[in-house]
Amino acid sequence: MEIVWFKRDLRIRDHAPLADAVAAGPVLALFLHEPEIILAPDFSAAHGAFIRECLDSLHAALQERGGELVEMTGSAPDMLEQIWQQQPFATLRSHQETGNRASYQRDEQVAAWCRKRGVTWRQSPQNGVIRGQEARAKRDWIAELDDYSSSEPVKPPRHIVPSKLPPMLTGPVAPLQAAGHDKPGRMKGGRAEAIGLLTAFIRTRILRYPYAISSPITAEHGCSRLSPFLAYGVITMREIVLAMNRRVDSAELAVNEAERERLISALRFFADRLRWRAGYFQNMESMPRLEFDNIHSGMNGLREGEFDPVFFARWREGETGYPMVDAAMKMLHHTGWLNMRMRGMLLSFAVNELWLHWREPALFLAREFVDYEPAIHYNQMQIHAGTAGAGSMLAYNPVKQAQELDPKGIFVRRWLPALRAVPDAYIFTPWTMPPAVQTACGVAIGSDYPAPLVDHLDAARQARSRVADAQIAAGIRPQSVRGRDGQKVAGTSQVALF
Ligand SMILES: Cc1cc2nc3c(=O)[nH]c(=O)nc-3n(C[C@H](O)[C@H](O)[C@H](O)COP(=O)(O)OP(=O)(O)OC[C@H]3O[C@@H](n4cnc5c(N)ncnc54)[C@H](O)[C@@H]3O)c2cc1C
Repeated sequence: MEIVWFKRDLRIRDHAPLADAVAAGPVLALFLHEPEIILAPDFSAAHGAFIRECLDSLHAALQERGGELVEMTGSAPDMLEQIWQQQPFATLRSHQETGNRASYQRDEQVAAWCRKRGVTWRQSPQNGVIRGQEARAKRDWIAELDDYSSSEPVKPPRHIVPSKLPPMLTGPVAPLQAAGHDKPGRMKGGRAEAIGLLTAFIRTRILRYPYAISSPITAEHGCSRLSPFLAYGVITMREIVLAMNRRVDSAELAVNEAERERLISALRFFADRLRWRAGYFQNMESMPRLEFDNIHSGMNGLREGEFDPVFFARWREGETGYPMVDAAMKMLHHTGWLNMRMRGMLLSFAVNELWLHWREPALFLAREFVDYEPAIHYNQMQIHAGTAGAGSMLAYNPVKQAQELDPKGIFVRRWLPALRAVPDAYIFTPWTMPPAVQTACGVAIGSDYPAPLVDHLDAARQARSRVADAQIAAGIRPQSVRGRDGQKVAGTSQVALF
């Protein structure tokens, strides 16, 4: 019997462990509902609900090929031991996981269990990550990533010979209650949903993508929306790259050179994001401590000890008094998704204007984002907080962002109904409404909508100054590129990761 342990790789295509196991003999396809993962502070009910839908879809795909998915609830070593006691096995197959500390610790325990039982654990690489190669030159790594991404995805097995477990091990799965509630506007999980999104995106939406990603109004339908499917491995980067290449090669485009160029340029723009993703995975693989510790230790002590729980609570609830920040938070509560710019603005307001250490906002956002991916998430936390050591912090002016990305206040009014009647002139700065205007539009600042928690310009100035001072003291940033207050300092580029 070959055990294939599905984790964040809920698919049958481009799944080397499954293909290898099927070639070797009867297969037990296993998914574990692990308390260490589900009860961890970065997991939420919305994740659980999305995963449930993906598992149902995976189960159906396995069944179509004669297999089935066995689900068990418990710690991985305990569950493997239970199976082994019933039916000893020699090989455990899975993908390598570059995840949070809970998953690292669990993998260490599983490795120890395998050693004890003489089981060989074969872990296939994924996401372009090269394990144990942190000393490699980054150039080599990029070349390998591009080779990997453009190679053919592993074919799904045609037929699976299942290896069944005794019924005592495969009863109904005991539910584990994760934190929070599911989200009414959450995307539905499953392979068909992922393929539907990918097909429509590559076919038509891609052409508008480069212009649609920043405004929350256009991004909702302009972005690929593939992130939760990538996060749970319902679809892979390699499958996306294949779809992109096929689109470029498609015959209909061969006759229209201008259209082809436009498409290629949009696809390149999109491919950059996939490379960023892979870069963050490689970073996390080499430096798993970035989930907890400042990447640059010279930034230690900068925000610690100044955490304001009231600021944190108001930010979490979308009650900062800054309409663009609060509207983004309300959309996140409802859907579990935001485009990158809104994520950045939300986070930068927390870690800069409100001067909250990034760790608590990170955990809160991890639970909120249905697509929570530790590797991307914690790198982003540190880049915005200025603790990544690569130069500046990333900060966004929430009023300017609103003026540029939501000029008519459509997004703000959609997610903050209390502000619907506020005149355009005040929609992004409602606290500046004279009392007579407040009365006329029926919105009293301080009761119908909160007054601002801080003066954002002042708070941002102070944050930039403190981060700059700390970076200069830590030798991360030379004095010459200190930057003027209120101005973004050049130097932090996500592409720099490659
Ligand atoms: C503070 C913060 C936290 C974030 N946390 C997460 C997270 O937990 N999980 C997550 O998947 N993304 C995260 N991102 C990155 C990005 O915001 C999301 O990937 C994107 O908004 C998802 O929507 P999409 O799939 O439609 O993206 P698209 O724009 O269609 O991009 C396609 C894919 O490229 C990758 N990608 C896009 N932008 C980035 C980026 N900046 N860095 C790395 N990869 C990227 C994602 O896998 C995404 O699905 C975070 C960004 C910020 C600023």
